[in-house]
Amino acid sequence: MNTVESASGRARGAGFLYWLTMSGTPTSRPAASVEQRVDAIQAALDERGMKATGAVGELGHLAQEQWIPQNGARVVAKAWLDPAFRARLLADGRAAVAELGLTMPKHHRHLAVLENTPKVQNVICCTQCSCTAFTIIGLPPDWYKDLEYRSRVVRESRTVLREMGLDLSPDVEIRVWDTTADTRYMVLPTQPPGTIGWSEDKLAEIVTRDSMIGVARL
Ligand code: FE
Repeated sequence: MNTVESASGRARGAGFLYWLTMSGTPTSRPAASVEQRVDAIQAALDERGMKATGAVGELGHLAQEQWIPQNGARVVAKAWLDPAFRARLLADGRAAVAELGLTMPKHHRHLAVLENTPKVQNVICCTQCSCTAFTIIGLPPDWYKDLEYRSRVVRESRTVLREMGLDLSPDVEIRVWDTTADTRYMVLPTQPPGTIGWSEDKLAEIVTRDSMIGVARL
């Protein structure tokens, strides 16, 4: 395909995107697949010098290699073993995780760390969409983004947790925290009694993403 044909193909892609967005009930043309729509958006942005293709590749790399729950697991393990670090973490999460070389996007202005106790279970959600402290606890799982979870965990948290396998006794208080764009949360789970004396690395291995969202206990 020569440059002119490629450019006109991209122009068609952009036009197709416009049609997808603006038309109410498509009748004459089939809907494009998600892949085709993504390609069309990338092409339209690339054409305007925004380098979308490279950015998508870079984001994919970051999501799979660097924005992983093992980051938060290191934070939790250190907090269990080091009371001074734990105090700093609870006072200013963003500054404390930076001590371990972990960074957060600029717009994640605050990391609030919520400490569980045997009688308190913290749970996080984003009622609006899907916000998490994703560079620390990993990208949100699909169920976290579902309207079902976002709406019900606020109204009937005990039932939702039970459905997800966490059956809390009635004397455990549940606190649900709604994430905003600039305040991100992570739950600090309680350390399982059988793990006293373990090394930091070994402790980090048992900390799960779900325990840092608050829908599981360890
Ligand atoms: Fe959100």
